[in-house]
Amino acid sequence: MNKPEIGSPTRTRAIMETYGLAFKKSLGQNFLTDLNILKKIVAAADVTKDDNVLEIGPGIGALTEQIALNANQVLALEIDQRLLPVLDETLADYSNVKVVHQDVLKADLNKLLADNFSEQKNLKLVANLPYYITTPIIMHLLAEKIDVELMAVMMQKEVADRLTAQPGSKSYGSLAVAVQYEMDTEIAFIVPKTAFVPQPQVDSCIVVLRKKKHKTLVAQDEDYFQRMIKGIFMHRRKSLWNNLLSMYGKKPETKEKLTAALAQAEIEPGVRAEKLSIAKLIDLSDALMAENL
Ligand code: SAM
Repeated sequence: MNKPEIGSPTRTRAIMETYGLAFKKSLGQNFLTDLNILKKIVAAADVTKDDNVLEIGPGIGALTEQIALNANQVLALEIDQRLLPVLDETLADYSNVKVVHQDVLKADLNKLLADNFSEQKNLKLVANLPYYITTPIIMHLLAEKIDVELMAVMMQKEVADRLTAQPGSKSYGSLAVAVQYEMDTEIAFIVPKTAFVPQPQVDSCIVVLRKKKHKTLVAQDEDYFQRMIKGIFMHRRKSLWNNLLSMYGKKPETKEKLTAALAQAEIEPGVRAEKLSIAKLIDLSDALMAENL
């Protein structure tokens, strides 16, 4: 008789019991036990045999199995050593899956991808992220500059709102700008907390991030831009001007340069950074650089 899929409640329970596993809260272990949701995540990423998929945090392999059924190859990075023998067994039938014991935040992702995918295919990322480090993982993925076409990632609703926020809204800040500079973002669907064991405190969302096909807005120096973004959103209650003074100093000649850069970018000094579109923020970054700041 065929075994039920890994993400079914009965099979998950049986696996946890067989291996005497307890969920580690400190590692954000909320496992999905809703096959419908698991399949919807893979569908939201439109995973096909033309795709290689990177997964972060396979757990006991519930999502990994669904990805493997649709993808060319899957590389899954798991930090919890206890889960490696479990994954060896649960995913034994899937020859297109490779599991690596790895903390994603310390991973050299480009090297891992090159070492583990034998065929050149589109790269996608699909993951039910550990909530305690959602934002650091997203920032690490951006910093590693992996050539990923699409990401479909589960996160708490509050982080999803910050990631997809538009200028002027309460949630708009450095995370939205850093991500939306590179990718178009969309909340695909909401996942109730009842889809997980153990249940998290809050509902979650699947966010789909698509690499911009034609990046029309480009800063002259992208690293400078990203540093500036962190600085001007540092103190959200302060005006842009006061955040700029905190970043660059208050010498009279610095103030003159800042005034010139703001005039060049056509930005009022008293405005708050959260009002500025990505296009305006790029103008500001280029103007600050032109003043050698
Ligand atoms: N994919 C499984 C699922 O959907 O049921 C498990 C998802 S669970 C929310 C997050 C997983 O990420 C856990 O397996 C946890 O051990 C793993 N994890 C936590 N921190 C990690 C890190 N820094 N690097 C890699 N995996 C991590």
